[in-house]
Amino acid sequence: MFHTRRYLFILAIFVALPAVAFGQAYVPGEIIVKLKSSPGSKESYAFMGKAHSEKGMNLKGNFSKMGLYHFGIKKGQSVEEALSELRKDPDVEYAEPNYIVTKADAVGFQKTFSTEELQSIVQSQGAASTVWATGGVDIGIDQFHQTKTYASSAVAKPIVAVIDTGLDLDHPVFKDTGAIWTNPNEIPGNNIDDDHNGYVDDIHGFNFVDNSWVIYDDDGHGTHVSGIIMSVDQNILAANLQESRIAIMPLKFLDGNGSGSTSNAIKAIYYAVQNGAVVLNNSWGGGGYSGALHEAIAYAYDMGAAFAAAAGNAAGNNDNAPMYPATYDVPNIMSVAATTDADTLASFSNYGRRTVHIGSPGVFIYSTVPGGWASASGTSMATPFVSGVAIQMKVESPNMLGYQIKSIIFSQADAVAGLMNKVYTESRLDASQAINYSKTAVVDSSQPAYYGAFSQNRELASSLAGGGCGLVGKLYRDSKNTFGDGPPAPQTQTWYILLVVALLVAPVLFAQWLKSRAPENRRRYERFRINSEVSVQVGERQLVGSISSISLGGVQLNTEAMLENGGVVRMQISSPDGKGDTIEVEGKVVWSEAQKAYGVAFNNAPRSALFRISEWTKALQKAG
Ligand code: CA
Repeated sequence: MFHTRRYLFILAIFVALPAVAFGQAYVPGEIIVKLKSSPGSKESYAFMGKAHSEKGMNLKGNFSKMGLYHFGIKKGQSVEEALSELRKDPDVEYAEPNYIVTKADAVGFQKTFSTEELQSIVQSQGAASTVWATGGVDIGIDQFHQTKTYASSAVAKPIVAVIDTGLDLDHPVFKDTGAIWTNPNEIPGNNIDDDHNGYVDDIHGFNFVDNSWVIYDDDGHGTHVSGIIMSVDQNILAANLQESRIAIMPLKFLDGNGSGSTSNAIKAIYYAVQNGAVVLNNSWGGGGYSGALHEAIAYAYDMGAAFAAAAGNAAGNNDNAPMYPATYDVPNIMSVAATTDADTLASFSNYGRRTVHIGSPGVFIYSTVPGGWASASGTSMATPFVSGVAIQMKVESPNMLGYQIKSIIFSQADAVAGLMNKVYTESRLDASQAINYSKTAVVDSSQPAYYGAFSQNRELASSLAGGGCGLVGKLYRDSKNTFGDGPPAPQTQTWYILLVVALLVAPVLFAQWLKSRAPENRRRYERFRINSEVSVQVGERQLVGSISSISLGGVQLNTEAMLENGGVVRMQISSPDGKGDTIEVEGKVVWSEAQKAYGVAFNNAPRSALFRISEWTKALQKAG
């Protein structure tokens, strides 16, 4: 495994440079680094010292004990130079640019209206009360509103984080419905981080652009997206707005031009999850593959949150040219294409039979903007319908995990001919069916383990990022086309880049494949000798024992007690350094020896536990 890793490390240096050189936009003078050593270890401090004194780097932030650091680099040094130097550094697991991402609307606001103007338009069209909100297509929102019941006021409203350009907190649709999230553990305006979450006075979310608690929306995109989420909750144009069933947490990381950095997106994702958001709306994208962003979304998955992401507006195929974050393969991601009122794919929408999952209305969507109303089009507008449905499912079924929410949304969607061969489900969102189904669905207590974010595939994924939606999206935005008449995606160029990358990568991959077939590499996980205490729960019994070897797949457990083959045990394993760090995992007894030593295979070990095991075993000797 170590050999393969080193091999792929070389591969990463080899192919990651073209991805940068081929025009993915990134923040000048900044990089994101992941260290091999754990945060707080003496190795990590030693690296910080070296980075500061020898490399002229300055630390701008770190991320939630994940071993990720955001640096400014030495003046005069290019990002490419800094990355190539760091990727040779034995302390560094990976180093990447701080990519620039942008909001995913297809064009700006098509028209803005006062409330009176919009109400008269709606009345003159004679549409059902909320069909106007979806650009004229019935996706079951009215039907849901007619049968909607209110959760007890004793039950907290589930929180949907809108990771975007901010929110107009004074707009009646949010203010008069009690829909704006309030941090219960923060005292506003005392200049103290009362709840110790790292952010001072963050009473209604946070503004990562200005590093401030002050939330506003100088673009309008975030307010539009938030209004769409609210339009699933209730008819937002009704004369009497109702108390909302949900809370919206505005996290501003895109600036007044709708542009932001990957490092701030990551901060917003961690903030959302750590402060209780269970659905994350992401109407933005761009940049190359980022291991750090991938890990942040995997963390959201482990914590049970659903993650809706815009597929992008370049009229391109995401299966070939990935659009991040929508194209990461984390199992809680719902990648959303935009559909028209005829249930066909919108002309601008990205698609992909494998990597774009579901259609949702995204053409001429009327919603809130600061001080009024506007219509807009884009996968940005399609995505919050999915988030809006997901968060209503959390009202009905508070313990449902993001993975199950996604699978119900997909299974309850309406198959439409216009999405055949275009998206994974070949279906368009159905609000009432998905929400109703969640009322009676048996809640899954667990979800599949996911460790793709720290698997070796990252280097491979990284190599394929060249020419993705960032580049394509930018060309689209720069063009002066009117809505609905987008330019052809520059596929020739994309294919050329992919071909070059493929030619570079193919011999290396072939060699790696040959290597993987060698007998010594057949075992799935490397085992390490360890000497750790473990407490074991078997049914009602509580046992103690020791662990003598460990891998990402399981442990050898030594105990005097008798365990049955096939029996399920819950283990609390202490770290080998005796410093009191423990992980809790469930496993199944798969072999036994003289009723003293047992092999226990992990059942769906949480990714956080696997991460800790991989940290522990870095200093350990391999078992034979
Ligand atoms: Ca705080």
